[in-house]
Amino acid sequence: MHELGLLRSVVRAVDGAAAKAGAGGVERVGLRVGSLSGAVPEALRGAWPLAVAGTRLAGAELEIEEVAAAVLCAACGSEQPVDQFYALRCPSCGAPCGNLIRGREFEVAFADART
Ligand SMILES: [Zn+2]
Repeated sequence: MHELGLLRSVVRAVDGAAAKAGAGGVERVGLRVGSLSGAVPEALRGAWPLAVAGTRLAGAELEIEEVAAAVLCAACGSEQPVDQFYALRCPSCGAPCGNLIRGREFEVAFADART
């Protein structure tokens, strides 16, 4: 599963940061996931317990903030939401538009240490 690999690198980073900070464990991790990031929130939730097993994040809660993808069109100046069928054209005026301003995020928003 591709999501498990993505989570493993997140877990490694947060685990390393927690160790450096001297935290005994991690309570909650927030992830920002764009709708065009290629990661599926449901699959992330499913793979989470496996990804955190045996680390400082074991038992931590996963919170996912889903980010809807959008483009900023240079031709009409508008910001438009796009879905997974987005074909590099502005949904409003149809001009070629590759200026994706949101939607590819896959990043840690926060990590709360267990006290
Ligand atoms: Zn446009």
